[in-house]
Amino acid sequence: MTKHPTLKRSTLGTINIDPLQRGGILTPEARQALVEWGDGYSVCDFCPGKLEDIKKPPIHDFVYRDLPEFLGTDHARVTNGAREGIFAVMHALSKKGGSVVLDGNAHYTSFVAAERAGLDISLVPVSDRPEYRIDPEGYRDVLEEKSGEEVVLAVLTYPDGSYGNIVDAKKVSSICSEYDVPLLLNGAYSVGRMPVAAKDLGADFIVGSGHKSMAASGPVGVLGISEPYHDLLLRRSRYNKNKEIELLGCTARGATIMTLIASFPRVLERVAEWGREVEKARWFASEMERLGMIQMGDKPHNHDLIFFEAPILYEISKHAKKGRFFLYKELKKRNIHGIKSGLTKYFKLSTYGLPEDDLRYVLDAFDEIISTTR
Ligand SMILES: *Cc1c(COP(=O)(O)O)cnc(C)c1O
Repeated sequence: MTKHPTLKRSTLGTINIDPLQRGGILTPEARQALVEWGDGYSVCDFCPGKLEDIKKPPIHDFVYRDLPEFLGTDHARVTNGAREGIFAVMHALSKKGGSVVLDGNAHYTSFVAAERAGLDISLVPVSDRPEYRIDPEGYRDVLEEKSGEEVVLAVLTYPDGSYGNIVDAKKVSSICSEYDVPLLLNGAYSVGRMPVAAKDLGADFIVGSGHKSMAASGPVGVLGISEPYHDLLLRRSRYNKNKEIELLGCTARGATIMTLIASFPRVLERVAEWGREVEKARWFASEMERLGMIQMGDKPHNHDLIFFEAPILYEISKHAKKGRFFLYKELKKRNIHGIKSGLTKYFKLSTYGLPEDDLRYVLDAFDEIISTTR
């Protein structure tokens, strides 16, 4: 007989500073929902034929009422992740010979979504170290260069997942509208953390990631759509009049959507507390700099995802017994997890939702590691 694998998770209970994971930690309500709705297709008990129309559990109200208001769009849908939202939009807008414009800090999923949708890609350049900035005017340059060609969509990663840089989205959207190119905001790292309303920023589409930033168990995401694109994006099957083609009929049809809904009230509250999160991130970055690390990206920083260059740790790694793995091991000894194993010279981390005491503890750990292993 096949033995059951052991499925213990060794990182439970650590102080987790992994940017990928901080915003996806479940609320108690979501954790309970995960168990309650874990059975396959449990949400479909009373389905009238379309996921969004399910009233019990209250998916209908969430998708038609709460979500569009939260995203600042006319319409919204729950997806299986940010990338699925990006792909649905690109696929719906795709044309033969068409292309998309991405910021140079775009996530790999924007690239693969465009490739899968059969679209060429042009990039808005990124400035050099240390800022890695995207100049909104870069969109104009690229769109000017591509004039006469079929640019179906522009994407702005808001913020990007490497440096946590926040670009002036209003400027980007006004440039895009001059060229009649719709704009999609990739809010995988913003929707559910910070206030972001597509309408206020002039974006036609916005995507978010439930497991990245909305305290949900993934894969799950959200997609906001402005009125002019409703019919194109949400067109229905000729054969099954309830089913939206780009969403393959039904998206998050299980526990994932229930965790998203369960955490939503808390997510609304925490978005309102964003100012405090930025303050904490800035304080943490400046303390890290006092220890010899250098913060890259926007300065002062406007997001909890922070990228550091750490020549001091790199130097230590050259002589340390465990080599480049020393940092991971030293942090692990202190119950801190989230900086990728093997990295020393460059790494990113997140301060999101961590109490000041924990952040102080992390700083003291870095201080101690530097002074004792040097
Ligand atoms: C994490 C991330 C994604 C992917 O999110 P999924 O919900 O897992 O598809 C996309 N874009 C950015 C910028 C990200 O950081």
